[in-house]
Amino acid sequence: MGFVVSLEQPSVAVAGSDDRFPVRRIYCVGRNYLDHIRETAGADEREPPFFFQKPADAILPNGAEFPYPPQSENTHHEIELVVALGKGGANIAAGDALDHVFGYGVGIDMTRRDQQAKAKEMRRPWEIGKAFDHSAPCSAIVPVARIGHPQSARIWIAVDGEVRQDGNIDQQIWSVPDALAHLSGLYELRPGDLMFTGTPAGVGPVRAGNVLTGGIDGIGEIEISVV
Ligand code: MN
Repeated sequence: MGFVVSLEQPSVAVAGSDDRFPVRRIYCVGRNYLDHIRETAGADEREPPFFFQKPADAILPNGAEFPYPPQSENTHHEIELVVALGKGGANIAAGDALDHVFGYGVGIDMTRRDQQAKAKEMRRPWEIGKAFDHSAPCSAIVPVARIGHPQSARIWIAVDGEVRQDGNIDQQIWSVPDALAHLSGLYELRPGDLMFTGTPAGVGPVRAGNVLTGGIDGIGEIEISVV
C-alpha cells in the first residue's frame, strides 16, 4: 500500500563550474522580435509583452535527445536568449532589473505549432502547444560575472547544418529589463526562475533524425537531436 515518491529538482548546468542552477519556473515572452511577428501573421506590433509558462521539468539539457512530441505533425524550433534570475522580486523597475540576473543561456522554445494554431483558433490557452514534455532545451547558464549583460549578439539555429534562424538579440521589442519589469508586475519572481525572451524570424519544422545546433555569440551553443 502507498507509494514512495521522490522528485528530482529540475536544474541546468552552470558554465565553467560543477554547480547546478535549480529551475523554479520557466516564463516565456511571446512575440518579441518584429520579423517573427510578421511571419506569424498580423499581430499588433505595439501591444505590451505577454507571457506563458512551461513546467520546470520540461528542461532538456544540452546534448540530449528531444523525443518528437505526440499529437503533433508540425513541431517547430524557436531559438531564444534565456535569462536566469539569481534574485527575486515583484514590481521590479526596469532600471533595477539587471541586478536580479544571475546569468544567460541559449534555449529552444519547442512548439507544437499545429496545436498552438488550433488553440488560437478556438480561443483556448497555448499550453498544449507550448508546455509539453521536453519542450525547453537549455544550454548551461553563463554567469553575469563572466560575460556581463549582452545587449547585442548574433542568435541563430541550424537544422542539420542549414541555418534557419539568424538574428540579433538587439532586435528584441522588449529588452530584458523591460520584459522583467512587466513580468514582475504579474508574478513575484524568485531565484531559479528562467525567462525565455522570444525568437527571431525563421521558425520552422523539425523531424526525427534532425540535429539542431544553435547559439548566441558570447554566451554559448546548444545541440539537440530529434528522435
Ligand atoms: Mn518562443
